[in-house]
Amino acid sequence: MGSPAQNRVTAQDFYDHDKCPHRVFLNHFGDPSEKLPHSDFLNLLFENALTHEREVVADLAYEMPREVTLEDRALSTLQLMRAGAERIYQGVLLQPNESGIPDLLEKVPGNSRLGDYFYKPVDIKSGSGYKDEAKGILRTDYGMQLYHYGLLLQAVQGTFPPEAEILNRDRKRILYPFDQFSAAYQETLAEIRLLTAGAKSDEPALASECGACQWWGHCERVLVAAEDVTLLSDVGRSKKVALNSVGVRSIRDIPSFDFSGVKLKGIGPKTVASMKLAAISVLSNKLQVLAKAALPDPPRKVYLDFEDDPTQELIYLCGMWIEPALHGLNYHGLLCTDEAGEERIWAEFQRLCVAIAAEDYAVFHYSPYERVKIAALERRYAVSERDALTLFKSRMVDLYPVVKHSAVLPARGYGLKRIAPFVGVKYSAADAGGAQSIVWFQEYQRNPGRQDVLETLLTYNREDCVAMKSVEEWLRQL
Ligand code: SF4
Repeated sequence: MGSPAQNRVTAQDFYDHDKCPHRVFLNHFGDPSEKLPHSDFLNLLFENALTHEREVVADLAYEMPREVTLEDRALSTLQLMRAGAERIYQGVLLQPNESGIPDLLEKVPGNSRLGDYFYKPVDIKSGSGYKDEAKGILRTDYGMQLYHYGLLLQAVQGTFPPEAEILNRDRKRILYPFDQFSAAYQETLAEIRLLTAGAKSDEPALASECGACQWWGHCERVLVAAEDVTLLSDVGRSKKVALNSVGVRSIRDIPSFDFSGVKLKGIGPKTVASMKLAAISVLSNKLQVLAKAALPDPPRKVYLDFEDDPTQELIYLCGMWIEPALHGLNYHGLLCTDEAGEERIWAEFQRLCVAIAAEDYAVFHYSPYERVKIAALERRYAVSERDALTLFKSRMVDLYPVVKHSAVLPARGYGLKRIAPFVGVKYSAADAGGAQSIVWFQEYQRNPGRQDVLETLLTYNREDCVAMKSVEEWLRQL
């Protein structure tokens, strides 16, 4: 079991638990030497968040606790609170079983053990502060972290603040009323206490969060050794829990298991059938063809791929591989580095739609992402070529569901990078991927003279477009 300090529940635990409960256990009890270094993308996020935080606090008046150790900084924070400091940056809140370091503690009029005021927590975030900004939906992970600070404040000042705030990327304050998060916090806290005390470890489960997790090296070894069911495409943590409850733990258990006599949440007859096929395909390492793909085959074909940077809400690259060549080019990479540029590439994109409008053509893409990005650009900017754009959208064919309906692959998923080896595609960069593309883009944004970075960025996007062409051709010959 860990030391009392190691067992303390932190606000970070709530964030991590939201991504994966097993990560909380490993953070407290895993062997640190097994942790992978942060990816370039994670480092970029941390750097951006830190820069944003520094810029925000540079414009604020605040006091900071002195001292070095956590205990002494907590004492120094308490002294600042007792002295009535208006705002405290990086204050330390420490209790025997919990700790937290909110970005800011802000003084609010009211009653507390400290006098006619109390403190509320405010965290600085480089995102919008919402789960869904348009619908005004707040983020549960942020809400629980702030609630955790609220309880730590209550222990110090005797008053539980009714709300907290997120100071977002536009320096807007997003109100987090605590009554929304009370039930989720209490339920999660009970589980985190078990994990941080080592009374429960939970289990790894392959999910999208693993891609940005430092424990992936460790967990992948465990999952592969166990032939874990989450190594199958479309089997995530909740399905794993359901399968484990009836003794199905390994991919090997699935083909022969009789599911007819059990009722499992989220696993109906269709899922059972596709899980069995996927398990057989993985165990035999053989592809199975399910159906012949019905794809349009016009004389002109466009392979479309957008890249966007969610940290800046910017669509920075619209790539199209066009056959036969249009205006003397197969690859059209429309790139921008700011909002004005985004509007420009949107206009260029529409001009390309006009250029092919009179022809018989199809637009191939992979996943709904491209439709979502076109819709976002339509909302943001004027549509100058409505007819050509409407026609273009009507010609779009998403290859992702076509692949899923046509074949079962011995793969962990059906994303373009995952299926690339099966269709004979190899990317030039070993770390090619959407996250790495954002790293290259931001590098180029900072240093527009870096032609090598620009070339890498465009090559990656061009290869994504060409990969779709390979998928389309592969589907036709199945
Ligand atoms: S690698 Fe995946 S399963 Fe393992 S701790 Fe991280 S998120 Fe959880």
